[in-house]
Amino acid sequence: MHPILQKLLKRFQLDPAEPPDDTSWEAFLDDVNASLVQADEQREQIKEQLSYDALHDALTGLPNRTLLLDRLQQAIERRKRNPEYDFAVIFMDLDRFKIVNDSLGHKVGDLLLIEITHRLTNSVRSMDTVARMGGDEFVILLEDVDDVQQAQHFAARILEGITAPLHLEDHEIITTGSLGIVVSEARYENPEDYLRDADIAMYHAKEMGKSRYEVFTAELHRQAMTRLTMEASMRKGVEQKEFVVYYQPIISLKDEQIVGFEALLRWQHPRRGFLLPADFLPLAEETGLIVPIGKWVLDEVCRQTAEWNQGLRSDAPLSVNVNLSTKQLIHPNLVDDIQSALAESGLESKYLTVEMMEGALVRDEDLMREVLQKLKDLGISVHMDNFGTGFSWLGNINEYSIDAIKINRGFIASMDIQGNNAGLVRTITNMAQELGVEVYAEGIETSDQKFMLTALGADCGQGYLFGKPQDAEASEGLLN
Ligand code: C2E
Ligand code: MG
Repeated sequence: MHPILQKLLKRFQLDPAEPPDDTSWEAFLDDVNASLVQADEQREQIKEQLSYDALHDALTGLPNRTLLLDRLQQAIERRKRNPEYDFAVIFMDLDRFKIVNDSLGHKVGDLLLIEITHRLTNSVRSMDTVARMGGDEFVILLEDVDDVQQAQHFAARILEGITAPLHLEDHEIITTGSLGIVVSEARYENPEDYLRDADIAMYHAKEMGKSRYEVFTAELHRQAMTRLTMEASMRKGVEQKEFVVYYQPIISLKDEQIVGFEALLRWQHPRRGFLLPADFLPLAEETGLIVPIGKWVLDEVCRQTAEWNQGLRSDAPLSVNVNLSTKQLIHPNLVDDIQSALAESGLESKYLTVEMMEGALVRDEDLMREVLQKLKDLGISVHMDNFGTGFSWLGNINEYSIDAIKINRGFIASMDIQGNNAGLVRTITNMAQELGVEVYAEGIETSDQKFMLTALGADCGQGYLFGKPQDAEASEGLLN
């Protein structure tokens, strides 16, 4: 008997010593056939399952990015063949998902995503594609739309659908989303181009206050291009050392002597000229470039201050204030960067002060407490900048062991010699003194303001009255 036949008989538990007769032989072959068909079907099922998994999101069962890109490619091809055919892409990001995930846990977060999936699919037609891009990002491909108004109408329906309160494990949750819309146009070649621009429009919706939709426009395109070039030139600016530190004198109001400076960043841009923080800081923050730029500021300021203190001002050493944004404060390298700036310059830590914004405290209380404690341990003072504009109150200033508050320029500007509008400044100053926190006044422009602030008991001040921010060389002139 042929060895293969022998193996088959054995596999089907027939005795190879007793070869089957004709009828059982036929039954045996049918069995073999049926098993082969079954194996084929199983293989086919597994193949289908695998390709389904490769194209769908495991949690929600929605098409994933790969499948969406494929459908988008097909829509682009279809539009090429038939220019009458239009489609739209909506990029959606949930506005508060991270809060839900962090406060109620991943399980509730997952349930929320599943519920949002139902609501999204119910808001569009069956021919449309709702895809999950990962995290809390969804993309909807609207097939065959008449015009941008129709796409906006769907965006409004989606918003309405997801905003209705939902109940998950005893919690009532209200979710909103920010949506960016882009409508098909001949200039788009690739699916990725649509996603990029819908994403830009979505970011714009977030900037405009969230829980809304925005359509991608030529103006948004221009802004995005400016940002891209600006970001690239900022990176280059760091390498080419185009950033400069300016110094504004800080005066003791008791004797009007310079006790230090506030370091204020400037950018000498090769084409756009001299730029102030307002022109580039928001983008530096957003891109994270503030971290390397801020490290350079720390190095430069410590070097310069150490030089002044070892030379011109060895009799009355200066301390210099450096502004730190929230992003810098929560960056894990901050303490190391400060330590190395101090070590390399030889500046004593008591001559370095960091200024933080009130907003930083609301961000992540525990982390901020830890960071501020580390700065204290290093012997660095911490001042609360622009006090009165944010959410903090003097009690929590004390809790975070802040050494001084800087009263926001707006409050100083609104005071006049009759003492009008001085009430708030008086209250803040009195309470700060009670708590043993020093008071600095920002933006002193007139001698009346200086007089009032001295009378109210503020310790130090800065402003155009005493000196505008200027470069290190000019500032040195003030020290002689
Ligand atoms: P800030 O820390 O509140 O700095 C005070 C701002 O008020 C400075 O604006 C200063 O030039 C301006 N100023 C000072 N005295 C007067 C005055 O008498 N009248 C008027 N009208 N303005 C006065 P600047 O230099 O444009 O800086 C803006 C902000 O940029 C700063 O506000 C600070 O938050 C941020 N910044 C500056 N340098 C840095 C830096 O190196 N790192 C970080 N993270 N932020 C920085
Ligand atoms: Mg400041």
